[in-house]
This record gives sequence, C-alpha cells and structure tokens, in this order.
Amino acid sequence: FHDDAPGEVGIMPEADCIFCKIVKGDIPCARIYETEHVLAFLDVAPVAPGHTLVIPKAHYANLFDLPEEEGRRLFAALAPVGRAIMAATGASGINVQMNNYESAGQVVFHAHLHLIPRRAGDGLAL
Ligand code: ADP
Repeated sequence: FHDDAPGEVGIMPEADCIFCKIVKGDIPCARIYETEHVLAFLDVAPVAPGHTLVIPKAHYANLFDLPEEEGRRLFAALAPVGRAIMAATGASGINVQMNNYESAGQVVFHAHLHLIPRRAGDGLAL
C-alpha cells in the first residue's frame, strides 16, 4: 500500500475492514467508478436496484475522520456516478445518505456514501 498523501493520518488499510479488502481486490465487488482516491461499487444488499456505495480508498472510520481533501474528492464523484446510476436504472431521483456511528445505523466503519436511486411511489422509507 503506498502512502501518496504524506502528512495525513489514518490512511493505512485496516486489516479487518471489509471495504479496505474490496479496495485491495481481496473481496470481489461490482466496481462502477474508480479514480486514484475514490471507488464506487454496487451495494451487496441493495434497498433499490442500482444502490451504490462511494468510498475513499484510504481508510477513515466516518465523516468526522475524513480530511477535507478526501471529502472534496468523494463529493466530486457523486454527480457523475449518480447521473450514470440514474441513466442505467431509469430512476427519476436519487438519495445520498451517510450513516455515522452505530446509533445512526453505521455497520461498516469505513466512511461511505450511499447513492440510492428512487422512483415516484417506490415506497422506500430512508
Ligand atoms: P447500513 O447497513 O445500515 O446501511 P452502513 O451505512 O454502514 O450500514 O452501510 C454498509 C453497507 O455496506 C450496507 O448497505 C451493506 O449492504 C453494504 N455491504 C456490506 N458488505 C458489502 C460487500 N462485501 N459488498 C458490497 N456492499 C457491502
């Protein structure tokens, strides 16, 4: 693993982190978008077809551990990935959701944004 962001903390992969294993290719995923710093892949348990996760490749536990630059990179990925998901699924809307800490529903402690395609009357309660 190479450290291309000297001075930042928390960028090493965590041994037991499932998303770090996905980044490294040790666990398979359906990759739909990738840059040097960001990865987007389909959620394995989608709440709607096309449900996608956008993550920093480096390990940060949640929003508050994320350096500003990493946040910018993640945010910059949302529009192109979101547009592609909407085009591919025919969705007419899309939710961006982030769960931080266990009591807010976070289960995987590697920061990630959910992109959830929506349709009128789909009945999803997010
Ligand atoms: P929640 O399960 O409440 O959405 P998180 O916000 O922590 O909790 O989201 C973790 C997401 O990661 C879940 O939507 C889950 O389906 C997804 N997930 C877990 N393991 C994998 C995997 N191997 N590949 C793709 N998605 C995964």
